[in-house]
Amino acid sequence: GPTVGVLALQGDFREHARVLAGLGARIVLVRRPEDVEGIDGLVIPGGESTVMDKLSRSFGVADPLRRRIAEGLPVYGTCAGLIMLADTLLDGIPGQQNLGGLDVVVRRNAFGSQNQSFETDLDIPVLGEPPVRAVFIRGPVVESVGERAAPLAALEDGRVVAVEQGNLVGTSFHPEILGDHRFHAYFLGKVREAVAAAA
Ligand code: GLN
Repeated sequence: GPTVGVLALQGDFREHARVLAGLGARIVLVRRPEDVEGIDGLVIPGGESTVMDKLSRSFGVADPLRRRIAEGLPVYGTCAGLIMLADTLLDGIPGQQNLGGLDVVVRRNAFGSQNQSFETDLDIPVLGEPPVRAVFIRGPVVESVGERAAPLAALEDGRVVAVEQGNLVGTSFHPEILGDHRFHAYFLGKVREAVAAAA
């Protein structure tokens, strides 16, 4: 299978690595610049984007990742990972930086505090039936979707919680938690296509 990096500086990277390995990917835990070179795709886990940002800069992986994203690397960001991928961030902390790539405006902590976490069923047309049971844990919301990006799912009130743009995918929620691996499989399809196109 393809080699998929999981950004492993902070957050629930182990869960993603387990899911992706179960789907046949070879996993590289990405912590240093040299880890970025051989990967065919990358997952950025949930966690705390402010910490992930600081660590990714001090470990020297932020710039290599920006370069690979600009070259078309498939990347899937969940929750804090979606924040990292957004071109524009609202309610970040002073000095917080993003990797960027996704033409969206994302607001951090849009659903309130940890104890306002919730689950809901989401219709996600690209994944078909049944709906995806989505867990939101202090997640971000996509406040606006730019011209280059497209929504994949919204809550009943219309707030967008999943987006894609070419090889980039982002979700406000955590599909790695509940055992529904269709989002990861969908992303791995993009990784396999990118590998085939480069061969
Ligand atoms: N609130 C976190 C942040 O700002 C994201 C929460 C999560 O990834 N579950 O990065």
